[in-house]
Amino acid sequence: MNDVVMRLSGVTKAYNAGLPNEVNVLRGCDVTLNTGEVVALVAPSGSGKSTLLHIAGLLDVADAGSVEISGQAMNGLSDRRRTIVRRQDVGFVYQFHHLLPEFTALENVVLPQLANGVSSGDASARAMDLLGKVGVAERADHRPAELSGGEQQRVAFCRALANAPKVLLADEPTGNLDPGTSDTVFEALMELVRSTGMSALIATHNLELAKRMDRVLRMRDGILVEDAG
Ligand code: ADP
Repeated sequence: MNDVVMRLSGVTKAYNAGLPNEVNVLRGCDVTLNTGEVVALVAPSGSGKSTLLHIAGLLDVADAGSVEISGQAMNGLSDRRRTIVRRQDVGFVYQFHHLLPEFTALENVVLPQLANGVSSGDASARAMDLLGKVGVAERADHRPAELSGGEQQRVAFCRALANAPKVLLADEPTGNLDPGTSDTVFEALMELVRSTGMSALIATHNLELAKRMDRVLRMRDGILVEDAG
């Protein structure tokens, strides 16, 4: 039996509820993410994938339904407790890297660990290990502006995994890269996720990339449908 790392059940979300411009974005979404599993979230633009990822990552709250991480219900937790769970258990990667421009690649991966109480020696060692796994160890002393788009995104993956979260949530992580770079950077992400035993929910428009993941969920009219596999 698989261990469930994250479970979303019956998640709904509307914007501008009760107003003429009400949008019922999520109408009852269910997601089960097992340990070590990489799941694709395929959704056209505007269909609610960012909304779903924000709710899964505890950055936003659903109108109804539940979010569980490692069997623990997130509904009803205090804001402070939610922030702690988010910091410890969830890693985010976005379409744009959002690295801190005045810090080196290494420092960008070290800083979240220091904020989590890790010693600087241990944080540097883990950061170098992660950077090595995605092939950018030799760029560790470069600032983001001195890195290519693909290298910046690899560093962002390492930063997301710096504190060994249980779940990685990625919103179009290669959407800003040219197709060739996107492919190799995606491979690096998959290797990193697999080698660290992570679970991941990765939103992508790219069906070829989606097919390389363990399962594919498609957003349709506010609900998720799993591709027959
Ligand atoms: P996606 O990530 O799939 O492009 P989003 O989750 O960002 O979609 O948005 C889904 C829909 O909800 C879109 O139609 C968007 O315009 C609308 N929406 C998103 N955020 C808000 C908001 N804060 N207020 C009103 N409408 C919103």
